[in-house]
Amino acid sequence: MAMNRRTFVIHSLVGSAALAAATLSRADVPKVAETDANAVGLGYKEDATKADKAKFPKYAAGQQCSSCQLYQGPATGRGNCALFAGKSVAAAGWCSAYAKKA
Ligand code: SF4
Repeated sequence: MAMNRRTFVIHSLVGSAALAAATLSRADVPKVAETDANAVGLGYKEDATKADKAKFPKYAAGQQCSSCQLYQGPATGRGNCALFAGKSVAAAGWCSAYAKKA
């Protein structure tokens, strides 16, 4: 159930990623807090190496926001993620919705 909903949310939001990137200025948006409810739900960490490997065994070393298809931004610093509208994520961050850029 949770997985289905997450998959649905991801699919719904991928299409709006470009729009979100176009309408948000990274400098103006607050950082996602790891304690935000959706960040907790997705297991988001500012430092990908701190990902909860026990809870998210699909995590693999080297995965991070900057190589995720939902990320819009520079390779370092911070950028936008389609799952965290209005907040910035760390290029070096990670969450369980990670999907490698094609
Ligand atoms: S890993 Fe991808 S989906 Fe998760 S916060 Fe980073 S950019 Fe967003």
